[in-house]
Amino acid sequence: MKCKTYLLIAIFNFLFFAMGQIVFAATPDKVKVDLFEAHQPVKQVFLYGPARIKMPMQRTLPPGKYLLTEKGSQLELAKQGSLQPIVVAPRIVLDGQTLGVALGIDSVDKRTYPGDVEMSVLPKQSIRVRNVVAVKDYVIGVVSSETPANWPVEALKAQAVLTQTRLARHLPSMVLGDSTQRELYLGSSNNRKEVREAVHSVWGQLLMHENRPVAVYYHSTCAGGTSSGEVVFSNKSAVPPYLKAVNCDYCVRSPFSKLTVRRISKDAATKAFGEGLPAILDYDDAGRPIKVRLPDGRILSGYQFWILLGQSAGWDKAPGMKYKLGTLPNGDLQVFSTGAGHGVGLCQWGSAELAHQGKTYKDILQYYFPGTNVQESRSVAMW
Ligand SMILES: [Zn+2]
Repeated sequence: MKCKTYLLIAIFNFLFFAMGQIVFAATPDKVKVDLFEAHQPVKQVFLYGPARIKMPMQRTLPPGKYLLTEKGSQLELAKQGSLQPIVVAPRIVLDGQTLGVALGIDSVDKRTYPGDVEMSVLPKQSIRVRNVVAVKDYVIGVVSSETPANWPVEALKAQAVLTQTRLARHLPSMVLGDSTQRELYLGSSNNRKEVREAVHSVWGQLLMHENRPVAVYYHSTCAGGTSSGEVVFSNKSAVPPYLKAVNCDYCVRSPFSKLTVRRISKDAATKAFGEGLPAILDYDDAGRPIKVRLPDGRILSGYQFWILLGQSAGWDKAPGMKYKLGTLPNGDLQVFSTGAGHGVGLCQWGSAELAHQGKTYKDILQYYFPGTNVQESRSVAMW
């Protein structure tokens, strides 16, 4: 779920805003996704047979566990425990059209990916693992990864429209990632029947504003109300009007709706923010900090400080951007937070509750993105 850094997505969307014109490219029928984004650098990859090698030659591997390692500028694929490589090449492509490609790395258990998986050598002895996947399989994978089992169907549809909308703003040359920095994609391992049906039922539909696909923002839990994009991302001229604050009393069943209290030791806080205490100067109506003063006098936006806090002290310290700061007698910093994520756009737990109350995916999307509407897209229909 959305509770990690949003820096990349913010930069990504800022570039589009700054351009003043949304790029609405005809989306290709496949997308490229770099895997294990949150686990870099990848030093070795486990492959689970049966598998089919497509390049540099065609070959079927029987059931078993295989190990792919980097040796100089080459990749070596061998049965685990064997010193005899089956393939030595700078680039190896696996074909997952029928069975999928089952992969794992040291820190990630086996996952299955539909489509092709291309592996190649990167600088610094690491391996790039890239999934080239049909757009619909990717959308089903994202919606399955971003939602828990038993999530209501209308909330699944809302999520599917958002992912398609994000792709409609995606340049064909861009490569996606698989972590919560953008949208979580765990291949087809978590795919569920109800997600496939939900994606099929809204296929080709985009969330639009003034005939353009919207900038997609969502988060796990707003804990009482969302915030305007202007406030969170501090860019009044560039943020579109539909990223505005709305009340949300619907996410109370989220595990993140309760107050989280965390402690950061004085030493760790000094290392992250400097000698002294950071101070929140202003909050928006939803309770998210707008400005934070660092001990050296520098002013950060509430969002910038939240990113700094997560990167330096760990994302568990303030899962949500609705936070306050305090101190303990020994000088340790206390962080109080509710919700999870930046609080802009759709609240996923709120969306699920609205669906339980009988709202449709269109109602849900129009609630969290006021002034927008769902439209069929000719461009998407071409996929
Ligand atoms: Zn909410």
